[in-house]
Formats: sequence, C-alpha cells, structure tokens
Amino acid sequence: MSKINRSNSENLFKTAKTYFPGGVNSPVRAFKSVEGAPIFMKKGNGCHIYDEDNNKYIDFCCSWGPLILGHNNKSVYDGIVDALKNGASFGTPTVLENELGELILSKNPFIDKIRFVSSGTEAVMSALRMARGFTGRKKVLKFEGCYHGHVDSMLVKAGSGLVTFGESSSAGVPEEYANETLVLPLNDIDALKKCFAEHKNDIACAIIEPIPANNGLLLQDKSFLTALREICTEYGALLFFDEVISGFRVGFNGASELYGITPDIITYGKIIGGGLPVGAYGARNEIMAMISPDGPVYQAGTLSGNPVAMAAGIAQLTECAKDGFYEDQERRTKNFVNAINAHAKAKGYDFEMVTIASIFWLSFDGKKKIQNAGQIDPDMSKFSALFSELLDRGVYLGPSGYEVGFVSQAHTEEYLADAADAFCESLDVVLG
Ligand SMILES: *Cc1c(COP(=O)(O)O)cnc(C)c1O
Repeated sequence: MSKINRSNSENLFKTAKTYFPGGVNSPVRAFKSVEGAPIFMKKGNGCHIYDEDNNKYIDFCCSWGPLILGHNNKSVYDGIVDALKNGASFGTPTVLENELGELILSKNPFIDKIRFVSSGTEAVMSALRMARGFTGRKKVLKFEGCYHGHVDSMLVKAGSGLVTFGESSSAGVPEEYANETLVLPLNDIDALKKCFAEHKNDIACAIIEPIPANNGLLLQDKSFLTALREICTEYGALLFFDEVISGFRVGFNGASELYGITPDIITYGKIIGGGLPVGAYGARNEIMAMISPDGPVYQAGTLSGNPVAMAAGIAQLTECAKDGFYEDQERRTKNFVNAINAHAKAKGYDFEMVTIASIFWLSFDGKKKIQNAGQIDPDMSKFSALFSELLDRGVYLGPSGYEVGFVSQAHTEEYLADAADAFCESLDVVLG
C-alpha cells in the first residue's frame, strides 16, 4: 500500500463512477491494470502535474502525447487566449485554418492537401472512407498491435488459424464489418506477400502506424516498411500511414520523413492540436479531390477547424518547426534512457527501455528485440509494481505497461536526472 495520501482522488473517483461507465470518459484512464484509484489531476506546469491532494509528479504521459512542449506552455496558452477573445466558434472558415494549413503543408513533401477534423479516430475513419472511395475497393489491411482509434473496422483482431480475415475485438462491431478487415502480424514480409497474392485487387489500403506505439513500442525494420510500400504500389492499394502519434513527434514530418517512405495517405492527431481536440488527414491532390464538396466521399464536422484549437496547433507547431527542436528532444531523451538502461544492465535486470526520438517504452524482456504484438509478455505485474513505486517517488506514467512514455521540451536535463534516479530506485525495489 502506498503511504502517499490520495484520498481526494479516491473520493472523486467514487463520485465519477456514479456518472460515467467505469468512472471515466476514456477506458485506459481507469487504472484497470495498475493498483489504486485513478489520480485526478488539477494543474500542469512544464513537465509537472499536480493532483487533487496536492501531490506533484514529473509527467511522462503528457496527455498521451499531445503535449510535446509540456503543460501550460506560454506560447500555446497565449495563442489559445488570443483566439478565444474573438469567440469560441463560428462555423465559417477562419484565417487560422489557413495559417495551420500553410504551416504544415509548406514543409510537408508527402501531402498536397489536408482536412482538419476533431480527433485521431475521426481522421482515420474519414481517410479509410476516402481510400475506399478512391480505389473502389472494400478491404482494408491492418496490423496486429497497431491502434487506429475506435473506428468499427479497426476494432478487429487476427482471426484464428491461418485466415487473414479479422474478428471483431469489440462487442457491437458486426462480423460483416470485421470480415472486410484483413489482419497481419507486424514486420512479416512473407505474410504480407501471401495476403496480397490471395486478395489481389480487393485491398483498398494498408493502414499501419509506421512507428507502432500503442501496444509497446514495436520498432519495425525499415525493410518491412519499404516492402509494404512496394507491394501496395504493385497491387494498386494505397499505403496509409497513421501518424497520430509519430507525426510532429519523431520529426516535423513524422515517420514518413524519418524513414524516407512516401505513403499515399497520412493521418495526424495529438500534437497537431497543442492539447485541444484536432485531427487531420492528408494526401496528394488526386486523392483529396474525392472529398466533399469537391468529390463524392462525404465528410463534415460542426467544430472542424475550430479557431481556438487551430490557434493552439499553430502555436505548438511553430515551436516544433524551430531549428534543432527535434535534435534537442532526442538528446535529452537518450541521456535519460541510457542512464536507466546502464543501471539495469549493471544490476543484471531483464529490463530495457526501448526508445526512438522522444518516445520510450519499458520492456521487461530486455533480451529480445520486440517487433510484433505477440512477443510481449502479457504478465504486466512487474510494470504494475514499478508504476506504484514511481508514483510514490513523484513520477507519473500512463497507467498501462502497453503504453509508451513521452518526453517534452519542458523535461529539462535536471528533471530528467531526478526522474532517472526515481526509476533506478524503483527498479531496485521491483527487480532487485
Ligand atoms: C491516439 C491514436 C488514434 C486515435 O486518436 P483519438 O484522438 O484518441 O481519437 C489513432 N491512431 C493512433 C496511431 C493513435 O495513437
């Protein structure tokens, strides 16, 4: 049992359970796979968050990725407040949409046009419809271990045996929908070839997180991503990079730029809205011409391109676009991760932090290179124990061992050194 007082959070959670399913408005917040009640946060500043009992934490959840500048960043705050002074929403075009569009498209060689929506899920859902509309094909190929939001056709897992047809992973998704989704393991070129040979010209698109970061951090071989690009081209399927996490995170132009691979469709979310609800999808002109009102694929949104949300995105991406931003993020993250990994290695722990850019993930099987979902040990008891030890030392992670951590611009060398000490102490308690 923790010695830290979190009684206000516990009481708030009791009340929340009478209002919301599971007491939350998004399931992973419910602390189902770790001990204790969810912690209610009331304030964030820089890399710190403060709970309703006034405990302070260094935050590596960062709202699940959006806060690449940390909490309450001054530029983002000012951008939001300035926009809000003019009104929260108009339902007409505003100049702020042009500004965010220009900021993104002027630097991005992969897409000609973009459409703003209000979440990552909405971006994926809309872009899948666009892919089907453009190709006139029905089937969508996805990869086990990638998350694409709660879109019906994406809530599908690999079927049993050798069939590639998916089975729905959520009640309420008809098998008929699931049957239009093909599911393959990540990083497996042979499976890819077999699937395309079998389904040939039925596949509208292959959707993938090029840096899968929702089910561990499953870094793919570049050769796999290249093979995927080639086979999509060969069979006339569109390659769909879901960059809702990796976009503006591993570099301004995401994993597409990092790997030098040109997808046909890209989705963004999280960082793009500076902490407010924004998602987006983009493609080359020929594909985007399908979208209403230019084309026959319908998609709309009352609050799409909301001026306050656009202002937050403009402020945040303006900072991200500055010279050296991503190099600095990566350097601080590497130092942090290396310090912890060196400690784990010296102590002989079977533990390793996997990292790319300013993302990290805790692997309790340090010996294996983990590249697909099936390689992750489903026993998360060590993560749960480490999570509790870290909380008591003032370090907050996303409350699940499958989730990654994020380093923001506000995580300075000093705070990261403190956090690394907390990690090393906690590892000694759990694995020592
Ligand atoms: C978070 C995420 C989504 C869903 O975005 P929401 O804004 O939560 O709807 C989709 N795809 C990926 C890769 C994500 O990480």
